Amino acid sequence: MADASQTRGGPALPTAYGHCAWHGGTTRDIRLIHIEQTGSGPGTGRRRFACHPCQIEHGLVPLADRP
Ligand SMILES: [Zn+2]
Repeated sequence: MADASQTRGGPALPTAYGHCAWHGGTTRDIRLIHIEQTGSGPGTGRRRFACHPCQIEHGLVPLADRP
């Protein structure tokens, strides 16, 4: 799917590239959605990222966008 709307204004955020935990693929523009607390020690939480389509489909709100 081509996306020609790349000219939107706004803060210049770095493009994240990684694994989307919801559809199970590697993609761009992922956001950190959730940190699982594994309870096995400090700093060991498993971070779960989602791509933009999955955020919309599943109603996910990135941690950084929550109040
Ligand atoms: Zn996804």
